[in-house]
Amino acid sequence: MIRLLSTDFDGTLVSHEKNPCVVPELFTALRELREAGVVWAVNTGRTLWHAEEGLRNEFRFPIEPDYLLVEERDIYRRTRSGGWDPVGDWNRRAARDTEELFTLAAPLLAEVLRFQERFDGVQAIYDRGHFIGSVTKTNADMDELCRFLGQIRERLPMFNFQRNTIYVRFCHHAYSKGTALSELARHLDLAPEAIFAAGDHFNDLPMLDGIHARHVACPGNSCDEVKQLVRDAGGYIAKGIASAGVVESLRHFGAWPVVKR
Ligand SMILES: [Mg+2]
Repeated sequence: MIRLLSTDFDGTLVSHEKNPCVVPELFTALRELREAGVVWAVNTGRTLWHAEEGLRNEFRFPIEPDYLLVEERDIYRRTRSGGWDPVGDWNRRAARDTEELFTLAAPLLAEVLRFQERFDGVQAIYDRGHFIGSVTKTNADMDELCRFLGQIRERLPMFNFQRNTIYVRFCHHAYSKGTALSELARHLDLAPEAIFAAGDHFNDLPMLDGIHARHVACPGNSCDEVKQLVRDAGGYIAKGIASAGVVESLRHFGAWPVVKR
């Protein structure tokens, strides 16, 4: 029985192209599942502030998740007053490990900066003095940048990166949507058999391999790599776009409509 939902946000719960951006049935499903005791976590590459902004103002969700997993790393629990508290010392450990990574990866990141000068309109993203990622103008440029990042990774196995369309963020290899989800599952004392995960893009791959969550799905708009992994993991590839695909997947796994016992 599914007890925890781990859903990506952009492209999975919300569509930036469709109208409506979210099908009303998704809100009904999430509300009923939560009333039945199912825990809902949004697992996103967005920052905490940006995720809150997306839920409350950008897409006006009438309900909020129990947990926010942000930047493919940090875990926050919603408080009674609507704030967000870190869960255990995971975020602190992640921050420490990430700081160490940026120190050790400094020479490699200098190479990345030089490499990406070939791309027209590329932008380096900085946070707290670190070069933490990039955004390119085209997917083709990001394909090439990620091939380069894959090569330099071999020289520092601790170095990894999370891609989402034309964005890439550098990270410590121990932290991803998958490991954050497993940490949340450990905190909630849930096995992978009790977990549903859905996502649409590269940065969702680590939580869709069938290891962290046994019930994996992707909406019809997902990239081919995601569809392939979900297929390999015995999951469900929905036809519906974004939220319509998530609702379709919840039906597929028999999680919703909730069967009253
Ligand atoms: Mg997405």
